[in-house]
Amino acid sequence: MNGPLTRVRVAVAAPVDGTFDYVVPSEAEAACCVPGGRVEVPFGAGRRMGVVVEQLGDEECAVETLKEVLRILDDRPALGAAELRLGAWLASYYHAPLGEVLALMLPSALRDGGTLDVPVAMGWRLAEGAPAVLPRAPRQNAALQRLREAGGALPDEALRAHAAALRTLAARGWVERVEVAAGRGREEPHVPAHDVVLNAAQVEAHRAVRDGLGSFAPFLLYGITGSGKTEVFLAAMDDVLAEGGQVLVLVPEIALTPQLVARFSARLGGGLVVFHSGMTDRARRDAWLMARDGRVRVVLGTRSAVFIPLPRLGLIVVDEEHDASYKQQEGMRYHARDVAVVRASQCGVPIVLGSATPSLETLHNARQGRYRLLRLDARAAGAVPPRLELLDVRRRPMREGLSAPLIDRMRGHLMAGGQVLLFLNRRGYAPALTCHACGHVEHCRQCSAPMIVHRAHGRLVCHHCGAERPLPAHCSACGSAELEMQGVGTERLEMALQGLFPEFPIERIDRDTTRRKGALEGKLARARSGEARILLGTQMLAKGHDFPGVTLAVVLDADRGLFSSDFRAPERLVQLIVQVAGRAGRAERPGEVLIQTHQPDHPLLQALLRGGFDACAEALLHERRLAALPPFAHLALLRAEARGAERARALLERVAAWLAEIRAGVVAHGPATAPLERRAGRFRYQLLLSAPRRDQLHPLLDRLLSELRTWPEGRGVRWSLDVDPQDMG
Ligand code: ADP
Ligand code: ZN
Ligand code: ZN
Repeated sequence: MNGPLTRVRVAVAAPVDGTFDYVVPSEAEAACCVPGGRVEVPFGAGRRMGVVVEQLGDEECAVETLKEVLRILDDRPALGAAELRLGAWLASYYHAPLGEVLALMLPSALRDGGTLDVPVAMGWRLAEGAPAVLPRAPRQNAALQRLREAGGALPDEALRAHAAALRTLAARGWVERVEVAAGRGREEPHVPAHDVVLNAAQVEAHRAVRDGLGSFAPFLLYGITGSGKTEVFLAAMDDVLAEGGQVLVLVPEIALTPQLVARFSARLGGGLVVFHSGMTDRARRDAWLMARDGRVRVVLGTRSAVFIPLPRLGLIVVDEEHDASYKQQEGMRYHARDVAVVRASQCGVPIVLGSATPSLETLHNARQGRYRLLRLDARAAGAVPPRLELLDVRRRPMREGLSAPLIDRMRGHLMAGGQVLLFLNRRGYAPALTCHACGHVEHCRQCSAPMIVHRAHGRLVCHHCGAERPLPAHCSACGSAELEMQGVGTERLEMALQGLFPEFPIERIDRDTTRRKGALEGKLARARSGEARILLGTQMLAKGHDFPGVTLAVVLDADRGLFSSDFRAPERLVQLIVQVAGRAGRAERPGEVLIQTHQPDHPLLQALLRGGFDACAEALLHERRLAALPPFAHLALLRAEARGAERARALLERVAAWLAEIRAGVVAHGPATAPLERRAGRFRYQLLLSAPRRDQLHPLLDRLLSELRTWPEGRGVRWSLDVDPQDMG
């Protein structure tokens, strides 16, 4: 009786594989039910959001058996063809349900409904009969001309300077109140800046990128801190913007790079929006919608900004491409840099990966000729690169982690007017509370890890699950009062430095001292201005900041990176040292970098000293090749955790047995307990899968996961697959 109803294929936002077909109840609605549009559909016992991926043709199909779409949310697609294509790649590469992937690509405010209407703001427009000029009233005339240049209307935000004049003009009936799309006023014409004349190496890099415009072309822009990479990004951006294109710029953490944001927005005026997790859902939605509607020219954002739709995308830039924060560590564990490269290839645009310390994966791609290598070898502003030195502390007296020669060296720099930067990747007062009577170490009750002493707050804190308890006066095992705080964290270091150098102001920068809004900005400002003389902190301090007055930079706990169970630890250590070194001597003063170590003969440190990051990368790549580790192998880590250790282990054992039976050229290591065996009350196991080629690993993972979902061993076990794992914990 009912005619051929339209059927649609929907990717439902649920942890299930595949798509599901529904019928659209009326033909009138079918026109709106297009690929990329959001719908609400019955699913299981409830209802779920989904995204239409296809309208189905008229093939015979038992329409009666299909359920009906409950609600159509959009009259135009929320996700365009480019986003759907990227989503399909993500789902297949990360082995994640398409519906969940597409939901993740939307800002959270659009994930469960929410309108696609672009935000509006109140503003002013010229009224009929407004005079062309008002020669006698310069302020009113300026407001009038501003509106005229903008094509008639602007939001209040763009007219702040003219508020009073506009009220006068309104009283005379020459301007009127209107609703304008927010952000409209930002469409000032793009004016490229010409205050920097690129040097020869920069010109060459810029030219290469420019020649690549209009098609997929991946570049690695490899240059030490201060070599002028950012100026190359900006020049390449100018080219794209001049043609009316859009640019996506990914950065590791916005909060840590206020200078970069300031520099970009100074160059771009209002055409820039930022996008990061510190924004409200609503602000993120607005930025997303404006980018999607082509009303912003540059999006500068962190990891998740890689999904923002940009209809006129012309260039992607990934700054500090080696940074670990590009990897999502939960849910769909994507790597934003890798996604960005795929996106550039799908959209046919160039992508520039910039770093002073590229990841071994990216360096390998460059060596294989997959990425074009662009090098900047000199510091652009002519400053001398810092001198690197190992400070052998074996058998030297140490005071709270500081050796006597180091203290002397610090004093020298401070007395000469320089700033000193100390890097210690360990927050809190002391990393362990140990009983001197029985040797007991206070542990987290939920995790297999020692509690960290936070002395100022009088508490023990677990850095894995956040559990806290008051600092005990007695050992919880034997009751002795002889408790020792062992090791040094940044809080303790700060106190030690206050005792050693009472006359010099100190600024500590770590997660604990920067929780309050605005605290980080204040600290960075005092560090930059030179008001603070000693800067100490965790890796927050090593990223992207420009501290022109620092003449001595010190890495205190290098040895930890040399002997970690994580095969990436040595790579991270040298990246960190080189990044820390990049903070020193950026201005005209030459800098010194000291690495305190008990391992002065360690080959990696020696390579760093003799040949810098290049030599280290060479040595590390060689080791990786011998050990068949990335980039010479492809990994996937299957993690399982459960309240009972047995369950988690049994599931992975079944996986290992299944793999052994299949014998598909994939090597399984484990199952083994995770480096942190218990976290938040759950026992954790993992199975590492490795294959020489991607196309051996991925089809197998597909088969494995569809099997695994049916196994009874999976009950009560939280498991997850991490493709290209970065953190082996
Ligand atoms: P990177 O991004 O590699 O750290 P930047 O682009 O930030 O380097 O450049 C470092 C400093 O040198 C900045 O202050 C920048 O303004 C300046 N600079 C870069 N290129 C030039 C140039 N060609 N001429 C003069 N100064 C430059
Ligand atoms: Zn004890
Ligand atoms: Zn814990």
